[in-house]
Amino acid sequence: MNTPKKLCQPCGRKLGGFYIDERFVGPATHIATYTLRCCDVCGKKTAVGDLNEFGGLKKDWTYYLNRR
Ligand SMILES: [Zn+2]
Repeated sequence: MNTPKKLCQPCGRKLGGFYIDERFVGPATHIATYTLRCCDVCGKKTAVGDLNEFGGLKKDWTYYLNRR
């Protein structure tokens, strides 16, 4: 799979660098802008955010991808 650029909330929680075991550990305030389109990971059409809204991808994001 290519590196995803837009993620929905559930995928962002799973793969984002701001999350450990789907718990938010990033900065208390950060700007999140979501647009309605297809998630690059699960393909669902929903509100998706840019990678930097989830703290980028975890280094080993493909491992978490396969762990669903
Ligand atoms: Zn998704």
